[in-house]
Amino acid sequence: MFSSEAEAVLQARYLKDGETPADMFRRVAGHVAQAETRNGRDSFRAADEYRRLMDDLVFLPNSPTLINAGKARAQLAACFVLPVDDSLTSIFETLKNAALIHQSGGGTGFSFSRLRPACDRVSTTGGEASGPVSFMHIYDVATQVVKQGAARRGANMAVLRVDHPDIEQFITAKRSHDVLNNFNLSVAITDDFMQAVAAGRPYALVNPRNGGVVKTVAARGLFSLLVRMAWESGEPGLFFLDTVNRYNPTPGLGAFEAPNPCSEQPLLPYESCVLGSINLTRLVAGGDIDFGRLRQVVHTAVSFLDNVIDINDYPLPAVAEATRRTRKIGLGIMGLAEVFIMLDIPYASEAAVKLTGRILEFITGEARQASALLGAERGSFPAFAASVYPGRGFAAMRNATVTTIAPTGTISIIAGCSSGIEPLFALALSRRVLEGRVLTSVNRTVVDYLSQRNLYTEEIAETIATCGSVADTALPARIKEVLATAREIAPYWHVAHLAAAQMFTDNGVSKTVNMPHEASEADVAAIFRQAYAGGCKGVTVYRDGSRAEQVLTGGTVC
Ligand code: UDP
Repeated sequence: MFSSEAEAVLQARYLKDGETPADMFRRVAGHVAQAETRNGRDSFRAADEYRRLMDDLVFLPNSPTLINAGKARAQLAACFVLPVDDSLTSIFETLKNAALIHQSGGGTGFSFSRLRPACDRVSTTGGEASGPVSFMHIYDVATQVVKQGAARRGANMAVLRVDHPDIEQFITAKRSHDVLNNFNLSVAITDDFMQAVAAGRPYALVNPRNGGVVKTVAARGLFSLLVRMAWESGEPGLFFLDTVNRYNPTPGLGAFEAPNPCSEQPLLPYESCVLGSINLTRLVAGGDIDFGRLRQVVHTAVSFLDNVIDINDYPLPAVAEATRRTRKIGLGIMGLAEVFIMLDIPYASEAAVKLTGRILEFITGEARQASALLGAERGSFPAFAASVYPGRGFAAMRNATVTTIAPTGTISIIAGCSSGIEPLFALALSRRVLEGRVLTSVNRTVVDYLSQRNLYTEEIAETIATCGSVADTALPARIKEVLATAREIAPYWHVAHLAAAQMFTDNGVSKTVNMPHEASEADVAAIFRQAYAGGCKGVTVYRDGSRAEQVLTGGTVC
């Protein structure tokens, strides 16, 4: 049932000595179900339901849950955000906390926007401040050192507001190669900035220490620099700060400043979030999604993720407190691109975008119902009364958020499906995983699709294995559309799916807008504008071949 890639990944990090995948799922299910006993319920029944979902590969929790469940100090969440205040004490206290989180398998996001800019005064020493970017380098080195002993690579997100005086230095921080490798960078974009860009207005950069305007720059010049760097290297990404805060379910607890490393999960300082994803390829029946079964899966998955909050061994008391206050969970999907192939719909089509919206609307709706039921039975999240939910007619709600679309980088390999809402990167993949090992596989959904239509000839099989694509074959145009890969799909459609999914997802959506090597800077600018106008919470682009070391490469030879 598991692909050779899945077996390799499982053996390397997930399975304990002598454990089979079925043992692992039993371990995870049993551990999480213990929380049922605390709520006066039957943990055996819950454990059995959870185990069956995982055994069927229809739902998998994020990697830290799979790896750590059953341990004495089991930290199960993937995403954390920590605050960085404008003092050495705060900067190094947070660095220590980040190290502890990385050691436990979690990834951390930080906003450096509150730090005074480089060359600003430091009253205690009479010297000059070194600025946010210099501290990011210290964090990067610490992450590099800690990761040797951690369950998995510690990942970081650094955010800087677009009106911070050091923004240009931040945007170009990764221009010299081989620096900040443990960081993803995102610029926090405000509505005000996007309006200044549209109007061609000047734009003020403000010292966060005293609110003083340090200098005024052309908004379009800054935007062009951002576009240029994203075109060159895929970074920084954009984090649409005002959009994110418009959807803050607990504004009374403070505003969002940063998301987690892969940017799908905005969190308040010290909050953590556990993610889990439904493998949609297991839910296709009779030429459609089996929505009845999907409903059951969503309800069980919400119960699972909610129990993780109670059973989790948090790495810091402040994280335990902030997480228990809002009880955020992030249920998402994977395998979407393969569902489109199974249903014979091109990813680049209105029909597919509609289906993306319909699936997420259904999942978020059902997950909210499940959370409302749990809230009625076990109590709402403590900050419920001050949240947006009472005003929307909810009498109870167990979790302040219910859905997030994670990248599913590893769990999609285990489940044997395409990741998140991404189109297929290629029809055959060579993946560099686990310190340089190369693993190859031909997509099984694609083989089935072509075989069912008597089109999987030796010649086509050979082309797929070597090039990872059927674009240059004599197959009918419609077949080529359905089997189009990420870089053959116009960026417009990538953003259309991102926006459709975001519209019905509580938290963020992980998505890379892939572009062909020939794409221009104007193309990148158009994607950024479309994403902002479409209500996305963030966007990342990647131009094929723009980084020397790609994690994924299409085809096995070319
Ligand atoms: N993450 C991390 N290190 C990694 C991969 C992921 O810290 O090497 C964290 C990060 O916060 C990311 C989240 O886990 O946003 C979810 O990533 P993904 O869905 O790819 O994880 P999976 O559960 O598939 O391993």
